[in-house]
Amino acid sequence: MPLYSSEHRRLTEFYHPEKHEEFSGLLSSLGEYMEKELSPLSPRFDTGEAKMGPARKGLLGQGICQISVPAEYGGLGLPFSLYANAIEMLGTSDASTALSVEIHNAVIEGLLKFGSPAQKKESVQALASGERLASFCLTEPTSGSDSRAMATSAVRDGGDYVIDGSKMFITNAGEADTYMVFARTAKGPSCLLVGAPNPGLKFGADIRKLGMRGSRTSEVSFSGCRTPAANLVGEEGKGADYAHSILHGARIVVAALNVGIARLAYEKSIAYAKERKAFGEPIAGFQLIREKIADMKTSISAARLLYLHAALLRERGLDYASEASQAKVFATEMSLKVCDDAIQIHGGYGYTTDDLHRHWRDARLLTIGEGTSEVLRMLIASRELAKSL
Ligand SMILES: Cc1cc2nc3c(=O)[nH]c(=O)nc-3n(C[C@H](O)[C@H](O)[C@H](O)COP(=O)(O)OP(=O)(O)OC[C@H]3O[C@@H](n4cnc5c(N)ncnc54)[C@H](O)[C@@H]3O)c2cc1C
Repeated sequence: MPLYSSEHRRLTEFYHPEKHEEFSGLLSSLGEYMEKELSPLSPRFDTGEAKMGPARKGLLGQGICQISVPAEYGGLGLPFSLYANAIEMLGTSDASTALSVEIHNAVIEGLLKFGSPAQKKESVQALASGERLASFCLTEPTSGSDSRAMATSAVRDGGDYVIDGSKMFITNAGEADTYMVFARTAKGPSCLLVGAPNPGLKFGADIRKLGMRGSRTSEVSFSGCRTPAANLVGEEGKGADYAHSILHGARIVVAALNVGIARLAYEKSIAYAKERKAFGEPIAGFQLIREKIADMKTSISAARLLYLHAALLRERGLDYASEASQAKVFATEMSLKVCDDAIQIHGGYGYTTDDLHRHWRDARLLTIGEGTSEVLRMLIASRELAKSL
């Protein structure tokens, strides 16, 4: 089935009736590119036989991160839901690349929301076109969910800030040219840009992971790392609020990514269930297998609608923090269940075939990254309890 399927096309028609041909054309050509250039490499990224860097550069060059960037910064100025749809396709094509691109785009989002006109002019176009790659540095060795407890410091010294400390589990570390760093200044958590290379910036070894093995993750250390004061994003002391705001948008995208992963595991399960025989007939004929197929499909469709709903609220300028978290919690847990069911349908081959269980391994990250399920349930509950019925 093409990455941009007839089901996607129907949803585009439904949500964007006036522009569906233009939008479908864009998504379908991006999908064709991913299928041709990226999907065949995906199993090889997992085993380490191929490196994702050149493929990611090629994909960014196709404009995936320009979709929802305003035209004045070299973007297409199109709805955010189309970008989320593109990331869903990318999750199906290669989850590691989707993770790397999603983090890169979170930095673009941060600059668009909080950056100065000069920072936007200088960085957004180069990042959105893929000429430069970005990394988002919030988590530290001793603080993740409790990001306000960050220990990394940034002290003003003449025309610079001097950053000291370290960040943990950073995606695109060592590959990126632009680092969005959250560090404590005199007024509290703040957000700064650091360009690479920089003599005060060091990277740890690539951390070995359960899944998402194509994407690079490492510690980033700052030792007397100087960055010009003009690289402060927004105001001092507002960094934690900026990080939370950026992450609300990123959660919609992570939900889409998980729908993409689940779709691939589901489609592999359909193909296998039709081909594999037991007791003289294809296992697709057995009711208990059919029940799994029905539940997998239903939950994928539900997660897709949840992320689209959050994206549409955002496009209309409405509050979407709770809905983005709902979409992320549901989609990430859904994709784990779908990938687990896919392993069950494949029997012993499911447990032993890298190219099948890697989907579960990839999905496993995302109930943790960008807000754990526990923390997001707290966010949803506090937002919902604060509403009057
Ligand atoms: C592969 C990978 C890539 C990553 N990429 C990036 C990146 O690019 N940039 C970045 O900044 N970070 C990144 N991260 C970090 C990720 O965002 C954090 O791991 C995540 O936010 C959780 O933080 P933590 O690991 O410190 O866990 P902790 O915050 O220590 O949480 C541990 C457990 O306690 C639970 N918990 C915490 N507080 C509460 C509470 N109040 N109530 C109930 N339960 C609670 C959590 O839900 C979790 O189950 C990445 C992580 C990984 C593994």
